[in-house]
Amino acid sequence: MNPLRTLILAAAGNDAVRRAVATAPVSRDVVRRFVAGETVASAVDATADLVEHGLRVTLDYLGEDTSDRTVAERTVRAYLALLDQLHETGLACDAEVSVKLSAVGQALDERLALDNASRICAAAEQCGTTVTLDMEDHTTTDSTLRVLAEVRRAWPATGAVLQAYLRRTLEDCHALEGARVRLCKGAYAEPASVAFSDPHEVDLNYVRCANALLAGSGYPMFATHDPRLVEIVAERARWHDRAPDSFEFQMLYGIRPAEQARLAAEGHVVRVYVPFGEQWYGYLMRRLAERPAAVAFFLRSLVSR
Ligand code: FAD
Repeated sequence: MNPLRTLILAAAGNDAVRRAVATAPVSRDVVRRFVAGETVASAVDATADLVEHGLRVTLDYLGEDTSDRTVAERTVRAYLALLDQLHETGLACDAEVSVKLSAVGQALDERLALDNASRICAAAEQCGTTVTLDMEDHTTTDSTLRVLAEVRRAWPATGAVLQAYLRRTLEDCHALEGARVRLCKGAYAEPASVAFSDPHEVDLNYVRCANALLAGSGYPMFATHDPRLVEIVAERARWHDRAPDSFEFQMLYGIRPAEQARLAAEGHVVRVYVPFGEQWYGYLMRRLAERPAAVAFFLRSLVSR
């Protein structure tokens, strides 16, 4: 892995760095480029704007890895309030939510995470929308897939996420035949024993997995900003005779917005992953790690305000 990427990912988990950045006069503009805001209202505003421009949305209330039941409960309530607002504003048909199980208690107790995820899925169904369970580092993959399987018994439209950098993922694609599956490259620092470290190998596995998902009967969601992969997926979708509404592209808020608009104008379904909430630090650091060129810009913003 690129040494700068490793360093930034280490900083993402370092409390001293976290405190320094969180208390520094970070330019609002830098954070706002990737994060919709800290409140439900700001998330709903960003959603309305994207929907007006022909895009769909999945909303992520930022926060992960909690070992505190109160924090997990606060996260569930934030999702319930968000779903309520999406319903009230008529946005629920174009916007779903993405949930990290570690934010709703997975590290404490898998059963608690299942119960909390189920509460969010039930509320989403009542509001006329769905949930996707984000995938985190490889130590949580089996647990997340177990919870997903349970949740899908009652809410079969609940989406899964699979990461192309994991060696196991092609098998998981087959195991999830018929499901809504988001395919991404994967964002965590993983050991070579479980993950491909060569970016070319990750891309090859992405294409293998994309083919498997497009050949199946599920609803694949291709989450990537990589122009080559977008082109290959679009071509493979045509080859598999996929109708435009039988799969979608997904990109992150603030990343390649012109490409999001271009794909939507071409008739593709495009969904934007919109993070919001006060816990923006870890998310922002992962985005910077993917794009080290942006780090200089970010560091400048820490000192100049
Ligand atoms: P990269 O290899 O990072 O980038 C490939 C190319 O894309 C670059 O060379 C460049 O041409 C272009 N590009 C990338 N970033 C930019 C930029 N900022 N500006 C301009 N061009 C750019 N990961 C998880 O582990 N779990 C999840 O649940 C998860 N959910 C996700 C949901 C969505 C909707 C998306 C889009 C990503 C998600 N990710 C998740 C993150 C993902 O795994 C990758 O870390 C991230 O998307 C970067 O990979 P990439 O495919 O864009 O390719």
